Amino acid sequence: MKFGGSSVATGENIRHVGDIVTQTAKNGCKVTVVVSALAGVTNSLIEVAEQAKRSDEKHIQAFTRELLDKHLKVIASAITSKPIRKDVTQITEKTIAELEKVLTGICYVGELTPKSKDYVLSFGERLSAPIVWGAIKDRKLETRYFTGKEAGIVTDSNFGEADPLMNFTTHLIQERLAPLLEKGVIPVVTGYIAADQDGVVTTVGRGGSDYTATILGVALGVDEVWIWTDVDGIMTTDPKIVPAAKMLPQLSYQEATEMAIFGAKAMHPRALEPVIKENIPVRIRNVFQPENQGTLITKEPDANAKKVVKAVAMIKDVAMLNVSGAGMVGAPGSYAKVLDVLGKNSINVMMISTAASEASISMIIRRGLLGRAISNLEIALLDRGGLVSDVSTEDDVAVIAVMGANMRGTLGVASKIFTTVAKNGINIRMIAQGSSELNISFVVKEKDGEAVVRAIHEEFKLDKI
Ligand code: ADP
Ligand code: ASP
Ligand code: MG
Repeated sequence: MKFGGSSVATGENIRHVGDIVTQTAKNGCKVTVVVSALAGVTNSLIEVAEQAKRSDEKHIQAFTRELLDKHLKVIASAITSKPIRKDVTQITEKTIAELEKVLTGICYVGELTPKSKDYVLSFGERLSAPIVWGAIKDRKLETRYFTGKEAGIVTDSNFGEADPLMNFTTHLIQERLAPLLEKGVIPVVTGYIAADQDGVVTTVGRGGSDYTATILGVALGVDEVWIWTDVDGIMTTDPKIVPAAKMLPQLSYQEATEMAIFGAKAMHPRALEPVIKENIPVRIRNVFQPENQGTLITKEPDANAKKVVKAVAMIKDVAMLNVSGAGMVGAPGSYAKVLDVLGKNSINVMMISTAASEASISMIIRRGLLGRAISNLEIALLDRGGLVSDVSTEDDVAVIAVMGANMRGTLGVASKIFTTVAKNGINIRMIAQGSSELNISFVVKEKDGEAVVRAIHEEFKLDKI
């Protein structure tokens, strides 16, 4: 079971988590728990880490004091037993003292590397896991807590987006966690963080606790992975945009991955990779409505779901990058050169479209990577033999993705989508359809994004799904 940031945002919520775990254990299930940082903590750690290289010790101390207060308040309301509360408080104080030292170090050195950034980010989950552990212990269950590294999750050294070395990880997890589960102990493991082969702390990408849960699920050979969050499951769209959005009771791995990539924040885009091979079902459930069954994700698409379009999503923090040049016309390998420069600089291209004239190529990348993309393209390609003569950008755009497995081979979906957008007087900047035909995605100005999502949700009657 994985509990996300909002599920552990307050002491009351953590008590709730304790109840869910207890209930499931009492029903005879063996449970492993994965926890995210308290809501907002990872973001605040990113901010303080970025500032630390330019800031002073006073500022750092103010931050750590506030972080300590926040966690102490949660501990006070999450845990009833005095001795357990004392233990968790001590762990928390010690962990925050370590964080203060790390931040002070960054402040003195004046440099934040991807490696040290991951170290700072690891503190969010290192602080939340002991509290959840305390709340479970409070209910007289046997439990132990682990960091991802202690549990045995070993990754490559791609800091910020590390990937597990599954064979080694499985071996260690089997050695360390499986015997505890056999004895009825509930392991509580930090989500998001792991370590590379040298034992250096890594993170598996934002929202990565979902990924931790499926990695552990595969390593332990579990029956199901449950991802507890603050909504009913994967919905037809973000309920924050369309309150009438409906929960989708069943999705295939492929559909769910597509939705996660295209902004259904309910799940990390890579989270399903480990479980697909082993065919382990994943369920997304609402902590606040545990009686609901949530969304079940399995190999098969839901045979009964006749709907061609099942969901619509918006990805906000993206930018469009247009590369053009007369030299690209009919020059074999010119696109490859552009993509090669981006790939070598670890810039993932999320969407791509080219004009038939071949004089330009438009790509969608994460907004935060725009500066790095432009400078590297400029260094590598601009004015080198006239291949590329211009690199332009738009950073106020959003991708809208319309998804559903039955879109494959169904005529007229695209025209219905684009007519709907046009009827709302909104201009489309770029279009792409994946060859899987599981989705059609297009780019609009960010300010128009929510209106487009609402219009498509209504046009395809997704609230009646
Ligand atoms: P957690 O902290 O549990 O990991 P996240 O914030 O990562 O939760 O993801 C849950 C949020 O994702 C929901 O509150 C919801 O607003 C948002 N969301 C966006 N698109 C969807 C969707 N299609 N289905 C469900 N939730 C969505
Ligand atoms: N705390 C991490 C994040 O905010 C991981 C997670 O919540 O899944 O990205
Ligand atoms: Mg999440």
